[in-house]
Amino acid sequence: MPEKFCIFCGETVLGRIDKKFCDDHCRSSFNNSQHVGLNQKLKEINLSLKKNRMILSKILEAQKLGSTQILNRKLQEMGFQFKYHTHYEITTTGETCVCCYEFGIIPNGDEIKVIKFGEQN
Ligand SMILES: [Zn+2]
Repeated sequence: MPEKFCIFCGETVLGRIDKKFCDDHCRSSFNNSQHVGLNQKLKEINLSLKKNRMILSKILEAQKLGSTQILNRKLQEMGFQFKYHTHYEITTTGETCVCCYEFGIIPNGDEIKVIKFGEQN
């Protein structure tokens, strides 16, 4: 019979061939550690989304407008991460807007159009 090792502590596992843990303690410790990893990822993404939203909110607040244009480079300098967004919206003019909560961006060459939904849309 091939030797099996506990996937949490690495100890030899005795018993059934499909046993993955040496005991219940290792099983629950392993499962808890998986949750910690998942929660960490969720936290990271949530933070990035909130940060993105804050950046867009600041840009529009400074302009006192419902929409504005900003250089792609400038947006990145502010720490905006394009890979994190919440959903897509099609504007009344038929453009696809990448949204971060109630804010959205529409790439337009070197510039990015920033809009807030619920205002002038
Ligand atoms: Zn173990």
